[in-house]
Amino acid sequence: MPRARGRRALSAGSSAQLSWTCVDCSTVATFAAPQEGQAPGGWVDGPRGWICLNCRREEVIAAVPITRDAEGRAARRRALTEFELIRDPEATDGQIAKRANTAPRIVRPIRAELREDGRLPGVSGS
Ligand SMILES: [Zn+2]
Repeated sequence: MPRARGRRALSAGSSAQLSWTCVDCSTVATFAAPQEGQAPGGWVDGPRGWICLNCRREEVIAAVPITRDAEGRAARRRALTEFELIRDPEATDGQIAKRANTAPRIVRPIRAELREDGRLPGVSGS
């Protein structure tokens, strides 16, 4: 039985959660027919409650020291790329690039580095 700290909608005879509320931005996600233990894409059940994907991305960017130069922008882009790769290792370089607002050629070496560090599952396919 999954633990659910988010708001639980009333549903007779079903333990599946139907709506989630982000503790940071109060965004509500709902599922018409959720499966057991399923959560909205990218949401995580954190120590304070459910956090939506947007807020997780903002946290990742906020964790990078703010500098006004190109180096700072590159560091934030890289942090976001790492976050997206770890969140969804099966996604292609192109998909990750789109989500992190960068280019596939930026994604590729970062993915290789994460694999070498053991932060991503081993090579599947290519
Ligand atoms: Zn949120």
